[in-house]
Amino acid sequence: MKIKFLGTGSAHGIPIWNCDCAVCQSPNPKDKRLRSSLFVEIDDVKILLDFGPDCRTQLMKYGIKSFQYAFLTHAHRDHMNGNIELGKQQNLILEMPKPVLKEFYAILRSGKYWFEKRNPTMIIQEFKPRTLHNVKIDTVKLEHQKDYQKTPFPCYGYIFESNEFKMAYLSDYSAILEEEKLKNLDLLISDGDGFENSGHGHIGIQDGIKIFQKLAPKKMLFTHIKHTKSHDFLTKYVKQFGNIEIAYDGMELTF
Ligand SMILES: [Zn+2]
Ligand SMILES: [Zn+2]
Ligand SMILES: [Zn+2]
Repeated sequence: MKIKFLGTGSAHGIPIWNCDCAVCQSPNPKDKRLRSSLFVEIDDVKILLDFGPDCRTQLMKYGIKSFQYAFLTHAHRDHMNGNIELGKQQNLILEMPKPVLKEFYAILRSGKYWFEKRNPTMIIQEFKPRTLHNVKIDTVKLEHQKDYQKTPFPCYGYIFESNEFKMAYLSDYSAILEEEKLKNLDLLISDGDGFENSGHGHIGIQDGIKIFQKLAPKKMLFTHIKHTKSHDFLTKYVKQFGNIEIAYDGMELTF
């Protein structure tokens, strides 16, 4: 199994349009972050996790020609606004948990009709846990932005588990609702949006480290990074707590 970070930025990416801060102006390529998205390859099966506003740029930048599955974590626009590109992929299976699917259609309004008309080979449906080449794929229920929304906003992480390896991708969350699913992780990819604990619906770096200490994965990577701290600063900071790194655009890992 191989993963590649197509984007590691928070909702506005880095640099943020019209922002003059030191991080947005940084010459370090690792401080350039497109909207968060992960590409997973299990042998010949390719999966796109989230398709935000930078999706077209990301697919072209990394020479991605096709994928068989696209899974959505939640229906925030920084994760799904590249949906128009999905219409260009033949025989694509687009899935997400039922409550996310409801929000996805609510935001797109004419979504299902639009896809079916332009791409009759595409299947859009509720996520089903499945095994692809001995890798089990499942979801984990999260809490995200309950603080200012009247009803909790449906949001999920994805778990990939084989006999040798277990990884979880939790790009946006403030709490984990099915923690029992995250035992014995080799890799935890976590929301790192914000350095201090700001209570804005994201766990951020400092509370994320508490999750690392609680769940004790072998390795942790932060993504969905904000412009308030540089890659170098965050890398140095998280290192003191164990095997933790800050992901960057184009970062690849093979298991
Ligand atoms: Zn997000
Ligand atoms: Zn900035
Ligand atoms: Zn979100």
